[in-house]
Amino acid sequence: MTHAERLAALEEIASEVRSCTRCRLHETRTKAVPGEGNADTEVMFVGEGPGQNEDRQGRPFVGRAGDLLVKFLATLRWRRDEVFITNIVKCRPPDNRDPEPDEIAACAPYLRRQLEVIDPALVVTLGRHSLGRFMPGSRISQVHGTVQPVDPSTGATNALVFAMYHPAAALRTPDIERTSYDDVASIPAALLESRARRTTVATVAATAGAVALAESSSDVAPDATLF
Ligand code: URA
Ligand code: SF4
Repeated sequence: MTHAERLAALEEIASEVRSCTRCRLHETRTKAVPGEGNADTEVMFVGEGPGQNEDRQGRPFVGRAGDLLVKFLATLRWRRDEVFITNIVKCRPPDNRDPEPDEIAACAPYLRRQLEVIDPALVVTLGRHSLGRFMPGSRISQVHGTVQPVDPSTGATNALVFAMYHPAAALRTPDIERTSYDDVASIPAALLESRARRTTVATVAATAGAVALAESSSDVAPDATLF
């Protein structure tokens, strides 16, 4: 897909989301929150669902959890507009309750289509609900900071998933905040690992070299520059 085709496809999905009535969450939303970011990115962050600020603005992660996510990204010298940020459900669950299984199922096709269009190398899950979609059956306390191949039926046909705690959990619990900063530091290596898996045999040696370099140096940032 060309850049223009990706933009158009993402905008088509976003406009469907904005007028969607497929589940009861449409009844209580102010604005749906389709997601936003760079259509050509290698990295997608997937949260749980919009909160109050997101519901008012129609944009993902713009409240306190979003501020912390931006700080996490800044430690990698990444900006939020270089990645793509979205959620499992695109409309706010009332009183920030957990999304129900039928709501998650109703909304799933939008995320699947976003994944198909962007074709990310790395999907970073934020919190349990997002984890449940990309690493079914695993516990966040055990898998945070680790990668697994993504099931292509999610829409991401050739990606690794990297699990993180939800930033809102990090805001509540200093231990989780510290752990999250440690986990974020492993994202570049995860991206390099995924790039290596996606690379053809002819160039795999060069990328593996970059991964080895990244893994062998503790204070030199690995070359996981996004663009
Ligand atoms: N929490 C989420 O899971 N998603 C948002 O967009 C904001 C807060
Ligand atoms: Fe539609 Fe998803 Fe919003 Fe439900 S949460 S109304 S499925 S966009």
